[in-house]
Amino acid sequence: MKALVLEKPGETPEMAVKEIPAPVPGPRQALVRVRACGFCHHDLLVMRGVLRRGVKPRLVLGHEIAGEVVETGALVSTVFPGDHVVSLLTDACGVCLRCAQGREHRCLVGAGIGHGADGGFAELVVVSEASLVKLPPELPLAEACVLACPLGVAVNALQDGGGLSSGETVVVTGAGGGIGVHAVQVARAAGARVIAVTTSAEKADRLRGLGADEVVIAPDLDFAERVAASTNGEGADVVLNVLGTVAFDACWRSLAQFGRMVVAGEVKGGAVPLSPAELLFKDAKLVGVAGVSRRHVQTAINLVQQGRVRPVVSQTFRLDEWMQVYEAVRERRPFGRVTLTP
Ligand SMILES: [Zn+2]
Ligand SMILES: [Zn+2]
Repeated sequence: MKALVLEKPGETPEMAVKEIPAPVPGPRQALVRVRACGFCHHDLLVMRGVLRRGVKPRLVLGHEIAGEVVETGALVSTVFPGDHVVSLLTDACGVCLRCAQGREHRCLVGAGIGHGADGGFAELVVVSEASLVKLPPELPLAEACVLACPLGVAVNALQDGGGLSSGETVVVTGAGGGIGVHAVQVARAAGARVIAVTTSAEKADRLRGLGADEVVIAPDLDFAERVAASTNGEGADVVLNVLGTVAFDACWRSLAQFGRMVVAGEVKGGAVPLSPAELLFKDAKLVGVAGVSRRHVQTAINLVQQGRVRPVVSQTFRLDEWMQVYEAVRERRPFGRVTLTP
């Protein structure tokens, strides 16, 4: 089969489409024919060599996989050849304590798909049954690949992480990116008032089209005063920080009393100063969120089927066009997700 193989990470990664043996499913795994695979910021970080821990040598990247099941292992009982599926980000065992708790994304023995195990930038991939969620056949696979990461991640971040409820105000940073475009819609569907923060003026109209009540263009990420001005000085109930350190201070200053900051991304690394006194006087919560469980993906599927959230895939590329994708994502040009199709 054809696969895009990462030979050597670096700022100019060595990567090529190669002919490699098709993977064989284990007893609890399914072989999936990949129809589309989203290109995530995680893929960019592995390609650049920023993320190295646990990365498999000669890796096939890609964890946002939608496709058709072609073959299943002997113990598989929930998916069948011909089923349309989307993958979680982790190849979960399905039987450990975490999996039993419905926290498959934190499986005690699972490997990251497209990280510790080969992923979906290939014609075929094997994924454990526990990490495949069945899709209604009417959802186009070209768009359904975003239903776990990043759309399910947005659901996890706002619902579980932020405890967002109707009538609250939410700030979405990185609003034009993969998590952001979906978080804007998930927040809107929850009945929240949405303030979308983007560094790019060209994305503003499209964010309003997705349901943002207000768009703040902040190339320098200094948006706290704008948030204060549009909330009568109260601040936002939930602030989704997908940028990590670089946006931490502005996110913190944007929080209302009893506010929750959800950190769901880190683009630079490093540490931030945090005053415990401010945390307690604000009755604030600081929450980290990464990945999705099956439950979050099911919620995402329901939202899409009800027409309340639209998957945002702005461009599709072939595997051999990976360099264009790498450069575009590095420069944060795409609106929403771009995908690769084998
Ligand atoms: Zn992803
Ligand atoms: Zn497990």
